[in-house]
Amino acid sequence: MSMEAVPDRVRPPGCPPKPETFVERLMMWDHCGKRSFPWRLTNDPFAVLLAEFMLQRTQAPQAARVFQAFLAAYPNPAAVVSADAGVVVSSLEALGLRHRAVRLQGLCRAIVERHAGRVPEHLPDLLALPGVGPYIAAAVHCFGWGHDVAVVDRTTARVLVRVFGLEPASARVHTDRGVWEFARSLVPQGRGKEYNFTLIDFAAAVCSVRPKHSVCPLTDACCYYLSDHTPKASQAV
Ligand code: SF4
Repeated sequence: MSMEAVPDRVRPPGCPPKPETFVERLMMWDHCGKRSFPWRLTNDPFAVLLAEFMLQRTQAPQAARVFQAFLAAYPNPAAVVSADAGVVVSSLEALGLRHRAVRLQGLCRAIVERHAGRVPEHLPDLLALPGVGPYIAAAVHCFGWGHDVAVVDRTTARVLVRVFGLEPASARVHTDRGVWEFARSLVPQGRGKEYNFTLIDFAAAVCSVRPKHSVCPLTDACCYYLSDHTPKASQAV
């Protein structure tokens, strides 16, 4: 399926932005909105995988408190596999991930058995691991291995749908194939990691569930905003 933006006849004037305009504005916003987390300071694919595993059910500030201690104790998949299951459980307890410790050990075991303990680089290999879906696979591929790919979750999909007036076929927009295809087309080559981190932060700080239009650098080109703030023909007197 190809992603269709809102048809011209119903699209407010001024939107959607050109892809390069969107990327440029976003990257400029980056200077005032970027967050710092320990997993953003590493290129270690296992550290990225571990962070994404923790972030699935946990807020980033909470995960940050546990992440570094866990990684220091278990710096690679083999260390997680050989650890006492009870100890791994208690390490993740603070995040409310107690019941997921078994899954983490299963994931690490698969990496040890299939990839000699090294987190795989390529998407098909990542996606074949237990518990790894498209988002985590893309995050590891981009943030760990440095590839310029789209990293789409609920929040970043929300931004793209709003700004570009996308009409996904699926209600679960973050799993919609068309949204992923469109997202891929935006990723600037050579800056994928920086771009994806910025988009994630922008979705959290500005284009959140309740969007903060007043501090957004995209109001003059955002389909969602303009559709509500453009005078209708009958009002434009
Ligand atoms: S104008 Fe509003 S809806 Fe559009 S990107 Fe900015 S915050 Fe999101």
